[in-house]
Amino acid sequence: MIKGIKGVKDILPEDSARWRFIENAARRWGDCYGFREIRIPIFELTTLFARSIGATTDIVEKEMYTFPDRDGTSLTLRPEGTAGTVRAFIEHNRGADPIPQKYFYLGPMFRHERPQAGRLRQFHQFGVEYFGTQDPRADVEVISLLWRFLSDLALPALTLEINSLGSSSDRAAYLPVLVAFLKKKAGQLCENCRRRIDTNPLRVLDCKVPECRMATEDAPQLVAHLSPEAKDHFDRVLTGLTALGIPHHLNPRLVRGLDYYCFTAFEITSSHLGAQNAVGAGGRYDGLVEVLGGSPTPAIGFATGLERISLMLPDQRLPDAGPSVYVAAFGAEGSRAGVILLDELRRAGVPAQSDYRSTTLKAHLRQADRSHCLYAILLGDDEIQRGSAPVRNMLTKEQQDIALPDLPHYFHQLQAPS
Ligand code: ATP
Ligand code: MG
Repeated sequence: MIKGIKGVKDILPEDSARWRFIENAARRWGDCYGFREIRIPIFELTTLFARSIGATTDIVEKEMYTFPDRDGTSLTLRPEGTAGTVRAFIEHNRGADPIPQKYFYLGPMFRHERPQAGRLRQFHQFGVEYFGTQDPRADVEVISLLWRFLSDLALPALTLEINSLGSSSDRAAYLPVLVAFLKKKAGQLCENCRRRIDTNPLRVLDCKVPECRMATEDAPQLVAHLSPEAKDHFDRVLTGLTALGIPHHLNPRLVRGLDYYCFTAFEITSSHLGAQNAVGAGGRYDGLVEVLGGSPTPAIGFATGLERISLMLPDQRLPDAGPSVYVAAFGAEGSRAGVILLDELRRAGVPAQSDYRSTTLKAHLRQADRSHCLYAILLGDDEIQRGSAPVRNMLTKEQQDIALPDLPHYFHQLQAPS
């Protein structure tokens, strides 16, 4: 037997309702905030991701699925959605469009990681990107979209953490101060972090190793080194969130190791998730469009993981499936008419099913129960003669005779929301 790949999961029909619910909510919230869906390719040139995500990140260093095309060109399965969205934004000259350029995407991403709960090799993200403004109200809008979406799903124990990375000159002023501090503490840091002091000192603050956390407990903070402009931007984001009643906590350790990330950085976690507690993360990346060859364009976005959302989504939040109708057709005439009735019901928009393996009424009713159909139409030769058939409520067992030609209309009416 050939099995699926490790860390790459099937979503079976039992789980699809949950997934559709989450995806529908994502699209609804995206639309509601004026973001428009973009569908970017699942694979791109490797250089796009290398340049966009940054060569010294975990993703590019060790997590990408990269392979040569038949002509040798290096391609990569997308590990995230920002790179492709920015490429499309530039390629289609969307910056020339005077209306706000706001996009959302939804779909699978690929990273070669150690599979565990909430960490897969093929996983799914919902993300948004807002191009063209540095206005702190855009930051607030993007954060509030993520917060409202997750809150609407009734996910438990959410925390929003936020920080400002300042401008690149703020960081240039701060980094020597941080590096000097880290050098003094080098003996207490993990091997990775000792290496990072020279390659990517900011990321030391982000390290999860307890010894590193302790050693950097009173590290100088980037927020204390913000220029007046960056400080004002950050204050306005925080005030904006407060005005909307969105609770948030300052987390000075929240950093991004790449130069084009600036100003706002944020993350939403849940204590219900265990080790992989990040539900979504985002921030401002004013330099990226230019890095990828476009005109300088400020931008902010987030990405959120749908597997982790699915793990937390309370069952009560899922809507009941609408009533489905089972056509229990038996006997020569009944079976013939059953096929036509199924077609008529479906054309009237009524979900209808049957099991062609069942030949007796008893067998049909058993299948109707197993398929959780709320109604069964009992259609035998006698009913065809009579011109009407009993409609059985599978829960109450009550039956009501309905004229055959009226059946599609009858169920269509039942379906319509009152
Ligand atoms: P983590 O710290 O969990 O590795 P990350 O920093 O790599 O997260 P991002 O690149 O910011 O994650 O992606 C945004 C979101 O996508 C994460 O918050 C998480 O919900 C989800 N995510 C990331 N990697 C995976 C994965 N391998 N499997 C499932 N979900 C993931
Ligand atoms: Mg990761």
